[in-house]
Amino acid sequence: MIPREVQNLIDGRAASPQGGEWFEKWRPDNGELLCTAARSRGVDVAAAIAAATRARTEWAARTPVERGEIVRELALALHARREEVAEIVAAETGKSMQLALGETDAAVEMGFFVAGEGRRLYGRTTTSAVPNRTVMAIRRPVGVAGLIVSFNTPLPNYAWKVFPAVFCGNAAVLKPSEHTPASAAFFGQLSNELLPPGVLNVVQGLGPEAGPPLVESPDVDLVSFTGSAETGRWISEHGGRRLAKVVLELGGKNALVVCDDADLGRAVDWSLASAFSNAGQRCAAASRLVVFDAAYDEFRERFVEGARSYETGPVISEASLERILAALEGANVVVGGERLERPGWWLAPTVVEDVQPDAALSGTELFGPVSILYRVADLEAAIALVNDSPYGLTSAIHTASLHRAMRFADEVEAGVVVVNGGTHGSEPHMGFGGVKQSGTGWREAGIEALDVYTEWKYVNLITDPAKT
Ligand code: NAD
Repeated sequence: MIPREVQNLIDGRAASPQGGEWFEKWRPDNGELLCTAARSRGVDVAAAIAAATRARTEWAARTPVERGEIVRELALALHARREEVAEIVAAETGKSMQLALGETDAAVEMGFFVAGEGRRLYGRTTTSAVPNRTVMAIRRPVGVAGLIVSFNTPLPNYAWKVFPAVFCGNAAVLKPSEHTPASAAFFGQLSNELLPPGVLNVVQGLGPEAGPPLVESPDVDLVSFTGSAETGRWISEHGGRRLAKVVLELGGKNALVVCDDADLGRAVDWSLASAFSNAGQRCAAASRLVVFDAAYDEFRERFVEGARSYETGPVISEASLERILAALEGANVVVGGERLERPGWWLAPTVVEDVQPDAALSGTELFGPVSILYRVADLEAAIALVNDSPYGLTSAIHTASLHRAMRFADEVEAGVVVVNGGTHGSEPHMGFGGVKQSGTGWREAGIEALDVYTEWKYVNLITDPAKT
């Protein structure tokens, strides 16, 4: 059930905002009011940081095995209530129950993967030029982690950050998107039943009000952010000024290449799913379809036909819909491009053509169900076009040629490459992240996440001082 007023979670207790302000959260599928949520300000964020600061030492002293067991219990608890949480996510985002359930299951799997690290959390040993010196590299928690996330796949977004953060021995303050307060509150309450008070705090609020106090607090050792490049730039500047560890997972303008030797039916199906599932609100969505000249006309016909009947959800807000429609003004829209005549924020799956690679539309992430078709002569031209982008998150190529696939994998500027599949679909054990303006070199999920949420410490043991 979604409460009428969604509160913060601070020090193990539900807390109303100290200023008594609440913001409204509207349903994307019908435009009706869903709930209100705490409109937190600096004072609320400070209380959450103080709670995390009090909790961190005792939590960090627990063994990784014990913390791993608690994360496993958390994942099991989430699994047991998957229908309930998926209903909240569906109401809050407008996505189908099927998608919401799949995302909940992905969050659970992330919990199991992270929990398994409790029996590993491997360090290293190394040699030394000095006799009787043993050197170990061990992982230690960073401290207090500020976790700021996007709305698009809320449960995986929380799980990708909260599970490794707390497993590694950090205390955390989660600042969810203002578009998904209820799922974050649910996740917080569930975690609170298993974690000691203050280890996970959830601060609701509007980005520009509740985000900056977290980024700028000297008591927050790590800021881990998933969201737009624009917000990421602000966070990098302000977190960087106080030399905090800042980890950014940002946007994409991902390309899917269709060669003339591709299985066209599969290429069309994967392109539709990559471009339009979750209303195109995926960092890994295929918003550029780069098609060989020889396959272009047939691909175009089948893709446009598929787009006409593709059932996608609404976009997250009125503002988002208006922003996308404004960006499409003047573009050659082949299909879609208009708001559906129904309550809520629905945009028909949209296909655009005749866009120059240097046009604003080619380089701007729209985060909606919009994909651009490009015609290219060959693989060389395709790779050049794909790489002509400020972003470099994911990419895909459809081809029967091993040579083409490997050349693409080698030369494409992206953090993820998929051959004969979609541009999305990462799994918990796979590191995920991008190059250029898609990130700052970090990878989330996988064991790579341990590098985000721990610091390496090098321990030198002089085992026989008399002989050294
Ligand atoms: P956004 O940047 O608008 O917001 C992200 C989060 O930042 C929200 O919680 C928001 O409240 C907060 N925020 C806003 N202003 C802030 C500020 N000044 N200081 C601190 N926090 C602030 O992004 P969005 O619209 O929620 O999400 C869409 C973006 O997220 C897209 O660019 C998408 O590609 C990206 N994304 C990336 C990944 C990835 O793993 N690389 C995954 C999902 C989404």
